[in-house]
Amino acid sequence: MEHPENNKEYKGLAVNKGIEKPASVNPYLKSHRPVMKKKLSVSEYVEGIVKGDITILSRAVTLVESVLPEHQVIAQEVIEKCLPYSGHSIRVGISGVPGAGKSTSIDVFGLHVLQKGGKLAVLAIDPSSERSKGSILGDKTRMEQLAVHPASFIRPSPAAGSLGGVARKTRETIILCEAAGFDKIFVETVGVGQSETAVHSMVDFFLLIQLAGTGDELQGIKRGIMEMADGIVINKADGTNIEKAKLAQTQFRSALHFFPASDSGWIPPVLTYSGFYNIGIKEIWDMIDKYFVFVKENGYFDHRRNEQSKYWMYETINEHLRDSFYHHPVIQGMLKQKENQVLHSELTSFVAAKKLLDTYYQELKK
Ligand code: GDP
Repeated sequence: MEHPENNKEYKGLAVNKGIEKPASVNPYLKSHRPVMKKKLSVSEYVEGIVKGDITILSRAVTLVESVLPEHQVIAQEVIEKCLPYSGHSIRVGISGVPGAGKSTSIDVFGLHVLQKGGKLAVLAIDPSSERSKGSILGDKTRMEQLAVHPASFIRPSPAAGSLGGVARKTRETIILCEAAGFDKIFVETVGVGQSETAVHSMVDFFLLIQLAGTGDELQGIKRGIMEMADGIVINKADGTNIEKAKLAQTQFRSALHFFPASDSGWIPPVLTYSGFYNIGIKEIWDMIDKYFVFVKENGYFDHRRNEQSKYWMYETINEHLRDSFYHHPVIQGMLKQKENQVLHSELTSFVAAKKLLDTYYQELKK
């Protein structure tokens, strides 16, 4: 009997006509080369920002963050020209240890404040992280709803650097955002130390997010972070955690009694809430609104902003002097040697410092 495979009817073995080999390069892809962005002049930047053009605002922020001197020159001019349009916002600092629920909370806080209209910019200060490693705001999905909201602008922390430098860039970014019509600014920071001081020096209201029963209560007191807070909110007051949160609220309230009265005359409230379940959010913002009415009436609002401007003037001078000193090639060549001499008790710290400073001043005269 003939084998079925040899039968002409056996279609499975028929060789079908092939198709032409497709081109190895996608014919629809126009160009691999990145499109070179047209360079903008200072006035083009300023005009774009004042019109609220987000692309131009983002590019200006990139200039502010750049370490290239030519970028800094343009950035400083843009900032100066934007200054008259800035200042008309409420600036709120939001701090808490990693895991406290900052991103979850900022997402719901943001949606809450945007209900009444206006525009919200969320900035960050995180000197410890590099953007490539995912800075605290690097991953926009952390604020899922705000990230896609048309009235919000989320910008990660400037890349790692000295705290002063990172903070100054964020402060300058605030000016640009305000000029672009953002009337609400959130500045997020990780609650692990000095960055709070930097945030405190650029916001009108400092909100501290705490968790119940982590021992943070006492750490916060020690570091003086609680002293800076204009409001303390205990997150994750949901499910079985409600009781613990209430207990923490009582503890924080009594701890606050030991602090000296604040310059503003405002007594920081302690509230509990749940960012995840959207409980108690309105109460937090009612408290913040009340604060703004209070400090605008008693004059503390303007006083604090003036003090902050003064602080940033000195900070900027300090930063420039430090940079100029430590980046001077002659000083860079001497530093290690002097450090070793101090370590081996060949020189006292003061003599070594004086020698370095004298050299620096002589170099400046050349
Ligand atoms: P961040 O590191 O301070 O930004 O904290 P996240 O917002 O990323 O939150 C850290 C973790 O806590 C996440 O797993 C959140 O889902 C969770 N979380 C945040 N807010 C709440 C809350 O109100 N209740 C509960 N139960 N969990 C929350």
